[in-house]
Amino acid sequence: METKKCSECGEVKPLNESYKSPYTKEHRRNQCKECWKKYYQNYFKNPEKVKRKNYLYNKRRYKNGERNPLGTNTKCTCYLGIYKGEAIAEKILKYLYNNVKRMPTCYSGYDFICDNIKIDVKTSSLHFKKTYVNKFRTMNTCKNNNTDIFLCIGYDNRKDLNIKHIWLFPKELGNYRQSINIHDSEKYLQKFKRYEITEKVKYIIKKE
Ligand SMILES: [Zn+2]
Repeated sequence: METKKCSECGEVKPLNESYKSPYTKEHRRNQCKECWKKYYQNYFKNPEKVKRKNYLYNKRRYKNGERNPLGTNTKCTCYLGIYKGEAIAEKILKYLYNNVKRMPTCYSGYDFICDNIKIDVKTSSLHFKKTYVNKFRTMNTCKNNNTDIFLCIGYDNRKDLNIKHIWLFPKELGNYRQSINIHDSEKYLQKFKRYEITEKVKYIIKKE
């Protein structure tokens, strides 16, 4: 039986004692179910306190060398999302807008302000779920109401990180739902065609 050590309580438990996650090696969360539930409940009671705790935890890990700096660890979700995604996003936005201001990392709500328009950057590579026929990309909009536009970057896969699609979604498309799932089928892509700007910024992507 496969087991996993909980990063919170330190107990070694069977794999199914932790929730599924696409981001870890075993596709399971690093915390056991019990610890994750506690974390989640605390978060909603006091998000600022939890954020502060996470910040200090990660800072300590950087110091101890347990965690690579952002931009060198290609397996980390931060690499795909914040580091790589926002770097290309900045280039695209500078092409589309005159005044592009990048917000500090982890700024709440949006990542850029461009000509007074708030822009939240979302990235996803293609992934697959047994319940769906097609592969799809998930843009985690997280019901974000504090942005005007979602700039969504769709990669082919996590390894090559070739950009296949770029969409500009109005906030109304994402601010009431946790995520926008874009299936990789002709019919589905056609549905989102009017938001797609891939052709328009083709030249910028090619230079990557
Ligand atoms: Zn635990």
